[in-house]
Amino acid sequence: MEIRNFAIIAHIDHGKSTLADRMLEITGVVKPGSGAQLLDTMELEKERGITIKLNPARMQYKFQDKDYQLNLIDTPGHVDFTYEVSRSLEAVDGVVLLIDASQGVQAQTLSNLHLAEKSGLTIIPAINKIDLPTAQVEETIEQIVSLLACRREDICLVSGKTGQGVSDLLNKVVTKIPSPQKNIEPTRALVFDSFFDSYLGVVAYVKVESGQISRNRRFQMSATKAQFDCIEVGYLQLKKVKSDHLSTGEIGYLATGLKTIQDCRVGDTIIIANSDVEPLPGYTTPRPMVYASFFPDAGRERDLAVALDKLRLTDASLVYEPINSKALGLGYTIGFLGLLHLEIIKERIEREYDITVLVTTPTVAYLNLNTSDQQEPWVELEIVSPQRFFGQVSELVSQYRNEFVGVEYFSDRVICRYNAPLADIIADFYDRLKSASSGYASMDYHLQGYRLADLVPVDLLVAGEKIDALTQYMVRSKAERYGRQLVDKLKNLVPRQNFEVSLQASIGGKIIARADVPAFRKDVTAKLYGGDVTRKNKLLEKQKKGKKRMRHLGRIEIPSEVFVELLKKN
Ligand code: GDP
Ligand code: MG
Repeated sequence: MEIRNFAIIAHIDHGKSTLADRMLEITGVVKPGSGAQLLDTMELEKERGITIKLNPARMQYKFQDKDYQLNLIDTPGHVDFTYEVSRSLEAVDGVVLLIDASQGVQAQTLSNLHLAEKSGLTIIPAINKIDLPTAQVEETIEQIVSLLACRREDICLVSGKTGQGVSDLLNKVVTKIPSPQKNIEPTRALVFDSFFDSYLGVVAYVKVESGQISRNRRFQMSATKAQFDCIEVGYLQLKKVKSDHLSTGEIGYLATGLKTIQDCRVGDTIIIANSDVEPLPGYTTPRPMVYASFFPDAGRERDLAVALDKLRLTDASLVYEPINSKALGLGYTIGFLGLLHLEIIKERIEREYDITVLVTTPTVAYLNLNTSDQQEPWVELEIVSPQRFFGQVSELVSQYRNEFVGVEYFSDRVICRYNAPLADIIADFYDRLKSASSGYASMDYHLQGYRLADLVPVDLLVAGEKIDALTQYMVRSKAERYGRQLVDKLKNLVPRQNFEVSLQASIGGKIIARADVPAFRKDVTAKLYGGDVTRKNKLLEKQKKGKKRMRHLGRIEIPSEVFVELLKKN
């Protein structure tokens, strides 16, 4: 049987997962009406309606009397998850580049397209949501023709909602995308994702580049040298489906039985045990863009460590190291690919592992902070906008530190490129870009390099004591305002104590802002007249429970929620 391996790539919300649903229906994997975004299996994905993880699915398809095995990988669209896309692209031979007819080409359309071109993949452009009354099919066709230098006839017009055009698209997939290479020797399988199962141990998602993976054979991880017997093998079809083996070109899963999570690295090659075979080119692990520290409730430190180890298995980009804060206790400083990534990891820790964490303000990775050679990361920013908003976009960018790189026009769009400090971009640039362009402009960025910067630490002092974990470095020009805001905000959040508490912000040791929280004696039993001891005890008990979720801030104790409020952006 012929095999076709392909991925759907697009800007976020352009309809990848919905289109995948229709494909699953047409190929009979599911009955029509089985639900929406079926490949988004994580609770969080369903709830938020976004794809976070790549998701493979196998389908059977017949075209002109020929049978095909289709392996589809649905990918996320958000810039934070580009790493998921780039790994998916290593496992396939072609992509469907999907573009929302009401939105046209957006920033992640371009960046995903560039990734696919770099991997030398066959690209099938498709315009989605043609059922929408706001669909601008003609304009979108022009954009794609100009971008890909393709013919109009090459573009599929589909609706993932109604299913219109989806069979035609599948016909294009089987006729245009080449079949994977069919080398028999040596056995090599690329690990493009993995997760941990308490029965099966580490389960790897693999693409068999050559050879065959069979159950009960002994294999080894090329990089880590860990050996294992393959205890189960099969493919993904919304759930795991067992088979006897995976052959050359096939995509599926392999249960290793390995209990040590570190033994299986995404990007590693699985080979026959003790065979001396060159590994496939692996992935370069992406560099974290932002850092934040997570502090669990007291007593859950070990649980957080286990949770992070397990999450790392499904998210190879996660890096973390322990931190011991005098004020906040034991925790982890974690590197993320962006703020959405941070938010997702926090929610997964809370939901999947039931650990409440306190998250410090995210910061970018500065270099050489304690020397005179301080540096901060800069990114190359790519903004895609309808030409009519070009003025507003340039005006907005001019309010930030930036370096103009260039503009490019295609059809009715403009692509503007700038270099800018990452710290500014993650702070509020995206929201302002959206409002400046009535939602029409989109952006993408990648690390460009490090540049010299004048950075200072802004410290927070409570009752004269520095709260180490809350120290934030930033460029000097922003420090004073930030310090003042911090004190202002905290002033309204800290509950009164039975002594006066001073709150101060300092820059490099010099106090720049101060506020005092006046004393207040909270006596919960004062209201009670008479000597009802049980009632009094009950109240004290209640007060004690309420204290459980308290944090020490120097000499004073304040509820955890205060931090959450404090660390919320403006
Ligand atoms: P993804 O982020 O690319 O995976 O996009 P989703 O598949 O999650 O779809 C994003 C939104 O667009 C959802 O609300 C879908 O219901 C909607 N959508 C997807 N395809 C179509 C379509 O063809 N027509 C219409 N009208 N809406 C669609
Ligand atoms: Mg999706």
